Amino acid sequence: MRIILLGPPGSGKGTQAQRLVQRYGIVQLSTGEMLRAAVAAGTPVGLKAKEIMASGGLVPDEVVVGIISDRIDQPDAKNGFILDGFPRTVPQAEALDDLLRHKRLKLDAVVELRVNESALLSRVETRVAQMRERGEEVRVDDTPEVLTKRLASYRSQTEPLIHYYSERRKLSTIDGMMAIDEVTGAIHRQLLALGAVEPRTHARSAAKAATKTTKKPAKAAKKAAKPAKTAKKTGKKAVKGAQKAAKKTGKKVGKKGAKKTARKAVKKGTKKAAKKVTKKRAKR
Ligand code: AMP
Repeated sequence: MRIILLGPPGSGKGTQAQRLVQRYGIVQLSTGEMLRAAVAAGTPVGLKAKEIMASGGLVPDEVVVGIISDRIDQPDAKNGFILDGFPRTVPQAEALDDLLRHKRLKLDAVVELRVNESALLSRVETRVAQMRERGEEVRVDDTPEVLTKRLASYRSQTEPLIHYYSERRKLSTIDGMMAIDEVTGAIHRQLLALGAVEPRTHARSAAKAATKTTKKPAKAAKKAAKPAKTAKKTGKKAVKGAQKAAKKTGKKVGKKGAKKTARKAVKKGTKKAAKKVTKKRAKR
């Protein structure tokens, strides 16, 4: 399952993304998190992004598109992902469409968390207080001034995506003012209605499914290889069978003839059919 979570800062995207990760065994791809990690590590991307992020601006499209494209190729994203904080502009959404097309991946849904703007500031204040309580480093862009700028950039640059995805029939809007559990439930129901998740998916079965699918590729590959192997085996056996049958009836059948007969028989499906056909031929 591949989905996008859309919503202004403080709308609960991060919280809901973590719940979806638990429930469906997919990964959360947050450009904000990745950029903060790059800043902390002092990478070239981090150096480019540091000032822009601190002031509440947007990092250039090509930087975030590159990060996301690489991240989607990682093995843990094969089972599906939630994009949190990306795309943030229409050009980013167009770039995402292109890269998904190239990777032959389909976007299942775009979930918009709609919130009352007046609640956002107090939500971010609560987040800051909780982070301080846990002894975590507080984000430099979680101040009232920077938040105001981030909100303005959401309105002017990101909100047009609502129209973009609604035109493409991908958009589901959820009331983000409900309690956290209710929002999670509403998202789940939307995903069900869109056919993006299997009915009765819950945390345990999703976790099981996730471990199964990580094991699956090898199994599936073996299984997929089986029919070819079997066909090869059956083919060889059928050639031998055809020659044997010919011997019995005293008629000379060369390897070529037997192979031809056998091939036809294998096409028909079973070993039994192979014997029948070759016997008939041999009799004639
Ligand atoms: P977030 O954690 O999503 O609130 O992002 C924090 C900051 O990272 C934003 O204010 C931007 O400066 C930067 N950022 C994150 N995602 C993007 C994006 N898709 N495009 C441009 N800048 C981004």
